[in-house]
Amino acid sequence: MNAVEYCLLNGLKVAGPDHPALLSATLSLLSVTALTVRTRHLLDLSDVSGSLHRHGWVALLLFVPVTFPQPGHLLDWLVAYPTVLVMHAVGFLITATMLTSRVALIQSTTRYRAEAHQDALTGLANRRQFELDLPFTQPGDALLLLDLDHFKRVNDEYGHPVGDAVLRAVGQALTTELRGRDRAYRYGGEEFALILRGLPPHALDGVADRVRAVVERSVFPDVPWTLTVSIGAARAAELSGETLLRGADEALYAAKRAGRNRVCRWSPTPPSGAGPGAALGGLLRPLDAAAL
Ligand code: GH3
Ligand code: MG
Ligand code: MG
Repeated sequence: MNAVEYCLLNGLKVAGPDHPALLSATLSLLSVTALTVRTRHLLDLSDVSGSLHRHGWVALLLFVPVTFPQPGHLLDWLVAYPTVLVMHAVGFLITATMLTSRVALIQSTTRYRAEAHQDALTGLANRRQFELDLPFTQPGDALLLLDLDHFKRVNDEYGHPVGDAVLRAVGQALTTELRGRDRAYRYGGEEFALILRGLPPHALDGVADRVRAVVERSVFPDVPWTLTVSIGAARAAELSGETLLRGADEALYAAKRAGRNRVCRWSPTPPSGAGPGAALGGLLRPLDAAAL
């Protein structure tokens, strides 16, 4: 058979308008199209192995060579068809195996990559993600560092599972306060971080205090007292990257020292006398430790 004048492509035959194969080629093409249209929704590319398991017959059908004999070549067709069928079946099995393992690999790589940047307990982004995001803060952004107050007491009195449930609930509560590209992180232990994007300078105090209040208002069924959080805030317009983190950290410690359940904000306005900002090696101006 001359491949130039008769080209078989899974049922699609390419032939000139006068070629005797034209009718069978058209029938083959229509059959394949109809089969594909009717069955395509059964094959889910995001779950190739699952859909092959459930609807393997469909995929097999699509690979079955849908061909019709040319007029006067029925015998040739009957002889050739089983061979073509076997070749298609082998081709189908090889393609399905490769596709399945390739998709499974891509899916597990995507899952591991996501998990590597996610905190397993709270589902928030983890410290690794925080360290990736911090250098990309822009002048309009702000950083809040949060530390739950006297959290050890929860563990001591009710055990770690209750402590874990509280951390999960706090993580949930924090996400309700995010807008747009803001992001919440579990920084470590009972410490969280929020990177707030494009915040007008005058809005930071209000937003930070709203975050503090949302924790204070939260009800934890197994803990009979009110849990609170101390927050250190810093603006990326005044600091950046590593110094932003250190500024927020200094502010957080100031909030703890000032009595907890409050927000302290790193400010470039130097109060009189030496302040805790001196701990930043002179890089930062002293902290404004006045509670909001
Ligand atoms: P402060 O107000 O000074 O922050 O007091 P605190 O008790 O919150 O701080 P401290 O550093 O003394 O204790 C932190 C506690 O957080 C101790 C540790 O057991 C607990 N913790 C850290 N990570 C986890 C966790 O993943 N699950 C639970 N249940 N507890 C955790
Ligand atoms: Mg702590
Ligand atoms: Mg704490």
